[in-house]
Amino acid sequence: MLKINNLSVSVNDKKLLADFNLDIDSGTTHVLMGPNGAGKSTLCKVLFNHPDYKKDEGTIIYNDVDITNMDPSDIAKLGIYIVNQNPISIEGVSNAEMLRIALEEKTGEKVSIFKFNKKLEETCEKLNIPKDFIFRGINDGMSGGERKKNELLHMWMLEPSFIILDEIDSGLDVDAIKTVASNLNEYKKIYNPTILIVTHHEKLIELLHPDYVHIIKNGKVEETGNYELGIKVLKDGFINGSSIMTGSYENE
Ligand code: ADP
Ligand code: MG
Repeated sequence: MLKINNLSVSVNDKKLLADFNLDIDSGTTHVLMGPNGAGKSTLCKVLFNHPDYKKDEGTIIYNDVDITNMDPSDIAKLGIYIVNQNPISIEGVSNAEMLRIALEEKTGEKVSIFKFNKKLEETCEKLNIPKDFIFRGINDGMSGGERKKNELLHMWMLEPSFIILDEIDSGLDVDAIKTVASNLNEYKKIYNPTILIVTHHEKLIELLHPDYVHIIKNGKVEETGNYELGIKVLKDGFINGSSIMTGSYENE
């Protein structure tokens, strides 16, 4: 379980998250929604202790371990995985190489190349991506949508138990959304992970059917509800007192 307590975060004295609280039980799926600039990506990055953000107050506790100021590679070793809104590419290091090293670091054991390659190939098939992705540089020369799928290939190989997905739908067409949703649902069935996903994509929300939906505004959780809250927000916009804010869903 993940517990975010009174977290305040700033960049250059600008407050991005203020007194942010969120509890996430293991095995549950949570959707984060909110207008542009609300702090959703900031939260995702801060969970991984991104160095650009200064934590002024608060703690992040994962399975009783304080990860607030932990090194990102140690956070990954605890089984937390993030797909960023705009995944970066790394030329010259292949997917296969990086995954083999990461797995050996995580498990402390030598990877069996036969099983490893077989799983990589099977996962490419599941994700409907070419098998030559395996030997390509990480996200190198890949379109936005291909990068998102490539990051899911990593997820299947690393078998995380807590998954953060920041606008995984951006750059994906409708067929790819369906592939990604059924892929995540299959992963859920097998590994029972905890999922925190930022999205405003109706089809994806419908197919993932989250347990909880949180509306983030001005660096805070403004409202928490279930699946129905997400559907209501998609229909009505972000309700702020009596005014309704709409039209700010586009990806950055
Ligand atoms: P969201 O993902 O909800 O659209 P973000 O978390 O990306 O919003 O951004 C929240 C606010 O913080 C925005 O005003 C954004 O410009 C600002 N911000 C985010 N990261 C940085 C940064 N590294 N430096 C300066 N400002 C930032
Ligand atoms: Mg964002």
